Amino acid sequence: MDAISYQRAPDIGAALSMASQPGTMFIGGGTNLLDLMKGGVMRPVKLVDITHIDALNGITALPDGGLRLGALVRNSDVANHAWVRERYPLLSQALLAGASAQLRNIATVGGNLMQRTRCPYFYDTAFPQYNKRAPGSGCAAIEGNNRMHAILGRAASASQRIPPT
Ligand SMILES: Cc1cc2nc3c(=O)[nH]c(=O)nc-3n(C[C@H](O)[C@H](O)[C@H](O)COP(=O)(O)OP(=O)(O)OC[C@H]3O[C@@H](n4cnc5c(N)ncnc54)[C@H](O)[C@@H]3O)c2cc1C
Repeated sequence: MDAISYQRAPDIGAALSMASQPGTMFIGGGTNLLDLMKGGVMRPVKLVDITHIDALNGITALPDGGLRLGALVRNSDVANHAWVRERYPLLSQALLAGASAQLRNIATVGGNLMQRTRCPYFYDTAFPQYNKRAPGSGCAAIEGNNRMHAILGRAASASQRIPPT
């Protein structure tokens, strides 16, 4: 078991200061980070809990008609917000199409943007080849199970090519 320390930040300044130690990570809803920690993919030495920073919450209407989404606003709160549903229906629908109600109720905007790739090879440390875990090690998906992947800039081998319909 890895020993980690935990600190709860009361404001942005404190969060930045607490995160100055190498190996520190912010934690929002934890729906991505905790999965990665349980699988041994990420091994932070310290977690800074930012979920009590009021300044990172809230949805604000801007004078130019835009919206500012706080990094701590939950995905479900963005999706169900009246302004978002009215002015940005695609955003609302996209959020509601993602994950599950339980996850959307805890996942945050900031965490959603900062989450790591959802490639299954990244999450499975049994595969040593994974450039994002071990830079330069290669990509297990190229010759692996990649039907759900978008691999750009590489010609598919004959066996991977999808025949024209
Ligand atoms: C079963 C399942 C299905 C999913 N399906 C979808 C889907 O269909 N579509 C989709 O988009 N996502 C999907 N996800 C991903 C999910 O949306 C993310 O796990 C979630 O948005 C992450 O938010 P969080 O607040 O829990 O982040 P955390 O797990 O707390 O953090 C994720 C990362 O972001 C960093 N971080 C968090 N907040 C901040 C911040 N304010 N500033 C800087 N860094 C920050 C953390 O350090 C960490 O590296 C799914 C997840 C699961 C488990």
